[in-house]
Amino acid sequence: MTTRPTPRRRPEAKCPLRPGDTCSLCVPGATGPQDCGLVYLVMDDPDLREELARKRRAAKA
Ligand code: SF4
Repeated sequence: MTTRPTPRRRPEAKCPLRPGDTCSLCVPGATGPQDCGLVYLVMDDPDLREELARKRRAAKA
């Protein structure tokens, strides 16, 4: 009896800016959240980062 290897699936990256959504590569040039210019801008701005954290908390509630 032979066992077939389970096909591997690439993990789907989640968009840090849209809780619950997978990255849809909506920003031109981005290959995922890791090099998304919009994610960089939001995470680099303390006010926007706080607003994002507030929205994430609201989404969990
Ligand atoms: S490209 Fe950036 S903003 Fe667009 S879904 Fe992916 S991580 Fe989110």
